[in-house]
Amino acid sequence: MYFCDRMERLIGRYGKYGAAKTFLIFAGVHGNEKLGIQALEELFEEFEKKQVDFDGTIIGIACNLAALEQDIRYIHKDLNRQWYLSKIRKLAALPYGMLNTSEDIEQKHILELILDVVYDKGKELMLIDLHTTSAIGGCFCITNSHPRSSELALDIPVPLINGMVGKIKGTTLEYFDELGLPAVAYEAGQHAEIEAVDRMKAGLVSIFTKTSCLKDRDLEPYQFILDKMTEDFNHLPQNVEVVHLHKITEEDEFVMHPGYINFQEVKKGEYLADDRKGKILAPSDGLILMPLYQKKGSDGFFIVRELD
Ligand SMILES: [Zn+2]
Repeated sequence: MYFCDRMERLIGRYGKYGAAKTFLIFAGVHGNEKLGIQALEELFEEFEKKQVDFDGTIIGIACNLAALEQDIRYIHKDLNRQWYLSKIRKLAALPYGMLNTSEDIEQKHILELILDVVYDKGKELMLIDLHTTSAIGGCFCITNSHPRSSELALDIPVPLINGMVGKIKGTTLEYFDELGLPAVAYEAGQHAEIEAVDRMKAGLVSIFTKTSCLKDRDLEPYQFILDKMTEDFNHLPQNVEVVHLHKITEEDEFVMHPGYINFQEVKKGEYLADDRKGKILAPSDGLILMPLYQKKGSDGFFIVRELD
């Protein structure tokens, strides 16, 4: 068993018994993205301390415990590429002893914790999946195709990325898409950028207020962070779509040229990276997103363009 027993899977649960809305919040789906765990721990503590009146339920889950423990993206495979309904059914049927990767074990354990919530038809459920990026300037939301997702994400003053579901298979966003439920992945900064913690908390509180689970006055302590985010990110296009994804495998030996930051403009034909076959050029004009500056990962970079 690869289970890590030092860290709790359930970061916290807060809210009102019987309330209509449930927010499932994932953190640490990638083990080198620890700030989501910190943000949730702090937020639960702040709510508890102030005994905030929350008309809903928040469930915070730490996802890839074994990878978090080692501060690496994943142990055997990317946990954010495993969320297919067919696979989820298979995992439910197999005993732990028959699972041979760390991530399958993690996923089965997460599912055992959340499936009652996911299939509770009496509740309005939404997923928010907290992440950080390896490149600078990584502050944006990615939505699935449920219309409610972008409605809520637009309340966080960072760019919104559309059209990612379908380009990357097996993400948590796609899982919720298949279930017909809203989901937002919130990339709140670079892996070691401590401001990401405040941005995560402010973004979450902003969504909780927008959905009337919190009163407007509960947003006040976080408003200065939202104002700062507006200031820091409103020069970026606020609504973009993915036009290209450069997929990679470990055997490609992909190396991104240094210095690219999220939303940096690139021109068609620009020399962006190398792999064992040679030069990788930008296939079109656009803005670069999530250029890969870490060893593990299956996406080299994305190119997005502004929506009208
Ligand atoms: Zn991530």
